[in-house]
Amino acid sequence: MAKNLIILTYHRVLDAPDALQPGEISTDFFADQMRCLSRYFNVLPLLDGCRQLSGGTLPPRAVSITFDDGYADNYRNAWPVLKQFDLPATVFVATGFLDGGRMWNDTVIECIRRIPGTEIDLRDLGLGCHVAKDDAQRVAAIHDVILRLKYLEPGVRNAKAATLAEKASSPVPDDLMLEIRQVKELSRSGIEIGAHTITHPILRSTEIGTAREEIVGGKRRLEEIVGSDVRSFAYPNGKPGVDYDPAHVELVREAGFECAVSTTHGAATASSDIWQLPRIGPWAESTLRFGLRTLRATF
Ligand SMILES: [Zn+2]
Repeated sequence: MAKNLIILTYHRVLDAPDALQPGEISTDFFADQMRCLSRYFNVLPLLDGCRQLSGGTLPPRAVSITFDDGYADNYRNAWPVLKQFDLPATVFVATGFLDGGRMWNDTVIECIRRIPGTEIDLRDLGLGCHVAKDDAQRVAAIHDVILRLKYLEPGVRNAKAATLAEKASSPVPDDLMLEIRQVKELSRSGIEIGAHTITHPILRSTEIGTAREEIVGGKRRLEEIVGSDVRSFAYPNGKPGVDYDPAHVELVREAGFECAVSTTHGAATASSDIWQLPRIGPWAESTLRFGLRTLRATF
């Protein structure tokens, strides 16, 4: 008797592997993973998976596919693959970045990519001085700068990110996130659009009233865009006790969602909290390992 639902978390699906984003999957590898899922697993829309989890009617080897943040490459690269294998998925969209916005962490990545030389000196921003002789050192610099910025007050963080952007030798891209017309098209084609707040704040370091506006406002904006109810939510960053706490879970319940997902690692079981479902990051060294790891988690 199947008990577990594996909810996979993706963010970007890159055109090609990117040495500065080793944790993000490329389209080729994503296609291999989707082929594996379509052959050996029962891939369910997230809401169906949640309902069947609660009702004890999950099929064996049950998997749901989710994407966080609302990257344009979900439309450009992931969607054609999903269509090819006839797989459902949910895209959690932070509405504040649609149509040309950029998340601050991407500003960091794209700036560090574009700062020439073998040293990245960001001491004027309080962000350290980093050796950058190769890609691995640039990746380390990116992680360090993101960590220094992540829990700052959003106004301070955004100002530092904007100053950082000025140090880049060429303009940083402003087409990383979905356009509104793409969200509409995904929704019309059956991809579920889920909410992920407006500006992707760390809810726990946000005033509770602002947190409510972020949660409810993101949902309403998406409902305007897609013309139907938005029923699922993903907590920004998603670590319970660090990024959100029970007060935010309550806000999500009150907002009228049917389920919510965290970034706690694990399989969802019948005893999981439907408002804080765990997920699994699917990155693995090979498609075989991906398949075996995912399979093992369903038991
Ligand atoms: Zn996110």
